[in-house]
Amino acid sequence: MATLTKPVARPEIRNTQCYINGEWVDALSGKTFETLHPATEEVIAHIAEGDAADIDRAVTAAREAFERGPWSSMDARQRGKLMYRLAELMEEEAEYLAALETLDNGKPIRDSRAADIPLVVECIKYYAGWADKIHGDTIPISGDYLCYTRREPIGVVGQIIPWNFPALMAAWKWGPALAAGCTIVMKPAEQTPLTCLRMAQLAHEAGFPPGVINVVPGYGPTAGAALVKHPQVDKIAFTGEGSTAKIIQADALDTFKRVTFELGGKSPNVVLADTDLQAAVDGAHFGLFFNQGQCCTAGSRLFVEDKIHDEFVDRLITKNSSRRVGDPFDPQTEQGPQVDHAQLEKVLRYIDYGKQDGAECVSGGERHGDRGYFVKPTIFTGVKDDMRIARDEIFGPVMSVLKFSDLDEVAERANNTPFGLAAAVWTRDINKAHRLAAKIRSGTVWINCYDVFDIAAPFGGFKHSGIGREKGAAGLDNYLETKSVIVKM
Ligand code: NAD
Repeated sequence: MATLTKPVARPEIRNTQCYINGEWVDALSGKTFETLHPATEEVIAHIAEGDAADIDRAVTAAREAFERGPWSSMDARQRGKLMYRLAELMEEEAEYLAALETLDNGKPIRDSRAADIPLVVECIKYYAGWADKIHGDTIPISGDYLCYTRREPIGVVGQIIPWNFPALMAAWKWGPALAAGCTIVMKPAEQTPLTCLRMAQLAHEAGFPPGVINVVPGYGPTAGAALVKHPQVDKIAFTGEGSTAKIIQADALDTFKRVTFELGGKSPNVVLADTDLQAAVDGAHFGLFFNQGQCCTAGSRLFVEDKIHDEFVDRLITKNSSRRVGDPFDPQTEQGPQVDHAQLEKVLRYIDYGKQDGAECVSGGERHGDRGYFVKPTIFTGVKDDMRIARDEIFGPVMSVLKFSDLDEVAERANNTPFGLAAAVWTRDINKAHRLAAKIRSGTVWINCYDVFDIAAPFGGFKHSGIGREKGAAGLDNYLETKSVIVKM
């Protein structure tokens, strides 16, 4: 994409209804809900508010498409071609999708253009390539038998996603599900339904048969819960908070649904004294403040070796003081608003907790302006492991710097959390890097980098950060059943 110099115009909003069985329809209740632009707090659209009745319509369509429609008999290569066509349409509309994401979520246009939408396209293309490469094995079993396995689509899948990377979270779920041959009912987050609805229109134009992809916007406890409880849904794939996952786990129990979870984190980012200092400062800053700190992988516990601590913090503060916070449609802007008022309040509350608990706020520490949900990028030093800002997922631009002096000590402290999503290590010593990578209990460990999200690398959480893996070949497992066929010879 070309480099931008001038602010981008706000995009028009084209899709606000439910997309069910290949058609755009109002919610059966006739109700709508508002979605806002977080930088101005203005209402930008009224969206169909799906509830249990709409979910039932969508699940019925998805079941029909799975059992009997053209999708059920389509050969895998053709499925892959349709997916590739969808990726091409997304690529053609990339500028529009990026602007729509910025409008709904508030993320800077430079990020939605450079990261979110290109990653969406890459994801759908990657899984398009997988569609005709899914196969079972032949297995030598005892006796005069032929044994082979088939990998079959799990069926109708309910997919529930959060608001921090709305289009990308949709793509991570659609890609493997479609490649596997499943049909989908997706419920986007109520804060950010717009790009997911637009992606449904692009799937329509790409030629996906009716019922294969359905999108029902609405609230979690109504539309989301109805999807989880629906007896005709075979599996739920959920990304969001652990507290919501517990409700979903319980609701899914009655129907023995498969569930996979991508949940929160409190990721340790460990900087050793021998590192390339400026690269680590830049990487640590990016690893926390990217996407307004609203990343499940945010490196929110920054452990810095005591020998370099003071210089490291000085450089961090210098870097932070020039961060451009403001209008997300301005291509110079590096940090936009938090997604909504609830997130703004939560982040400000944690800044207060940091101050109350005795950490030192050395940069930022307050709201930015009085319109929109902006928070100044904030750094705390002198943070202790048991402070609330070091324990809880804040999901905002608040960095906690902690000191350490020994490798074993930092490995133990890094693991002293219920979370296990991601971690990073900064060092020139390859042995120390691999020792720490092996010791830290998390689904991803970055060494001398942060937030590298190639679609081929599996991603997910240890411990309370999730169940299952997304991305890569591992992501397909979430959408496949294995059948053994045993033949007497
Ligand atoms: P959330 O759990 O509040 O909401 C996520 C989704 O669940 C929304 O669509 C919501 O409507 C729905 N939901 C809420 N209650 C429900 C219910 N009872 N039944 C069914 N669905 C329900 O999470 P959030 O605030 O939107 O997102 C932030 C969280 O997501 C953070 O914890 C973050 O770490 C996590 N996250 C994890 C990953 C990952 O890949 N591990 C990626 C992004 C975000």
